[in-house]
Amino acid sequence: MQQYTIHPLVVGANETDQGVMTYLRNYGEKIWIPIYVFYLKGGDKNILIDTGLEQFMVPDDLGNKYGFDILEFEDALATVDLKPEDVDLIVHTHLHNDHCENDYKCKNAKVYVQKAEMDFLKDPHPIDHRYYPDVLDEVEVVELEGDANICDGIDVILTPGHTVGGQSVAVNTSEGKAIITGFCCNDKNFPESGPAVTPGVHINAIEAYDSAQKIKAIADILIPLHDLAVGAKKTIP
Ligand SMILES: [Zn+2]
Repeated sequence: MQQYTIHPLVVGANETDQGVMTYLRNYGEKIWIPIYVFYLKGGDKNILIDTGLEQFMVPDDLGNKYGFDILEFEDALATVDLKPEDVDLIVHTHLHNDHCENDYKCKNAKVYVQKAEMDFLKDPHPIDHRYYPDVLDEVEVVELEGDANICDGIDVILTPGHTVGGQSVAVNTSEGKAIITGFCCNDKNFPESGPAVTPGVHINAIEAYDSAQKIKAIADILIPLHDLAVGAKKTIP
């Protein structure tokens, strides 16, 4: 099976409350969450997982403090020798605005999304409306229904609850199965002992809980979608 290395690129950061990540835990604790684009290197296609927010925000010194560069989308891609038009495939964990706003720059990419997530984007429920941008009109979208193989060594696993059609991305690496979570969370969602913690933002708390347990159980390398420590790694593994 094809092996990949995962390159986390930081394209922005937001200050928020830890409770936005961990349901009924750690409220009142201010945290920074990096916004990632993950480049998967190894196959014959240029593959991105998510594309970040278009609006660029660089908090003073945050990158220095945590050991990563925060760059605009095009500049971040340049660090792995890519231009937006070189991207062949984009796989979306979900369609909250911090994960998909730069798709339109990747004019030659096919975009893989769960059908349920795409349907929700077109007609979001008011509870979640503010997180869904007006995107994906200008790109070729491939709608998936449930678990699916994307290409050799890359699969998606349906993990709903944070959103209706969230999908986690399993990537074959030299150190086993790395999984980028399909829901917003950080390291505190995955304590050393005990169950994984439900994402703080969710449309179905029980599904969100179950999805977090499922990914924790099957990942050899777990990559929480907004974890600060992930950005300090140039490559995973
Ligand atoms: Zn997010």
